[in-house]
Amino acid sequence: MKKFQAPRGTLDVLPQGARRRLRVVEIAGDVLGRAGYEPMETPVFEDTELFARGVGESTDIVQKEMFTFEDKAGRSLTLRPEATAGICRAYIAHGMHKLPQPVKVWTAGPFFRHEAPQAGRFRQFTQIDAEALGSADPTLDAELILLFAEILERAGTGPSRLRLSSLGTPETRADYVDELRGYLRAREGELSEEVRGRLEQNPLRAFDADHPGTQAVMAQAPRLVDRLSADDAEHFAEVRALLDEAGLQYEIDATLVRGIDYYTRTVFEFESERLGAQAALGGGGRYDGLIEELGGSPTPGVGWAAGVERILLAAGESDDAATADVFLAIADDGRQQAFQLARRLRQAGLRTEMEQAGRSMKGQLKQANRIGARAVVIVGDRIEVKDMDTGEQRPAETADEAIQMVEALLA
Ligand code: AMP
Repeated sequence: MKKFQAPRGTLDVLPQGARRRLRVVEIAGDVLGRAGYEPMETPVFEDTELFARGVGESTDIVQKEMFTFEDKAGRSLTLRPEATAGICRAYIAHGMHKLPQPVKVWTAGPFFRHEAPQAGRFRQFTQIDAEALGSADPTLDAELILLFAEILERAGTGPSRLRLSSLGTPETRADYVDELRGYLRAREGELSEEVRGRLEQNPLRAFDADHPGTQAVMAQAPRLVDRLSADDAEHFAEVRALLDEAGLQYEIDATLVRGIDYYTRTVFEFESERLGAQAALGGGGRYDGLIEELGGSPTPGVGWAAGVERILLAAGESDDAATADVFLAIADDGRQQAFQLARRLRQAGLRTEMEQAGRSMKGQLKQANRIGARAVVIVGDRIEVKDMDTGEQRPAETADEAIQMVEALLA
């Protein structure tokens, strides 16, 4: 018989890994929740056009990486490659501009990109995503960056590098892109074929190139951070001042080009010093034109996405095996009584497991040990409570007494 494997680039997350993931998401929910970010969810698939418009036609994501399919009515749908477009669509669809601004939300879940799988790069991966919509206040940019850093710290990812830049407004960027295109055209012979092919659509991508000739040209290229308008420069200075004041280290990196078109002003990326080629733990920035681009009224926004698999890779293995407080072992005909007692112990707040595999008494005690239970209740013709630390075993007259004894033992 054929044995089925998880599809290429996807992961089976087994219980120990799933527990670690849940923990990271809980940390994020706690850190973000304290800053007023509320949970929100949008569908895993959306109209293809939402991403074409929202992420940008010329991006790798839209050109090469989307899982796109038709529904039975012939509509083109796409498994979401990122979260921001969907959240902005929902903000518009639900008139969330009428709520007190900014609207601060976070979400976590699966995202999909048809990329070449490698360590830290999957076709289905998990992101935590935080967004603040409806205000251009620079404290939001700084707040989101600091919250990201706090999540990384609590998740135990170790040292990371924060790269920061500003892309200015669309007008500044358009003028700059023209200037850059002119500069690159004059040196076309030194550029890689891919960069030459993208010159018209997106010359900024040349900053991402691995090609040595292109890299040499880019090292001398004009920089967008040097072309910012007075307003944008002031906004960026304020974001930096807030980060400085908070004591968060960063590097200004004028070559930081994120692979998504919608960014304006602040952009940033956290990179782990512990990871190899796929070192980005996450990143984001401001996207003041996106909601308008998607049919809403002009509304600023800022946000980030963090890669949960990368965070866990950087945090390293931990042996947080599943544990229980109590194990109910079954002697004689004790199954039904043990089942009822397990319910009562769980209702009392204790993590309780019972024998459910027909083991011998010896095997049951071994299992209790394996799951770290500190108390075992042996249920049969008599009830006995065993302290697994001392090995002491004492009889209980009733189920109530057994519960009291277990509670005393665990206290
Ligand atoms: P991006 O919006 O592309 O910057 O993605 C944000 C973060 O999500 C990245 O920094 C990674 O941590 C994570 N990420 C993006 N694509 C993948 C992928 N294919 N596999 C695993 N993680 C990813």
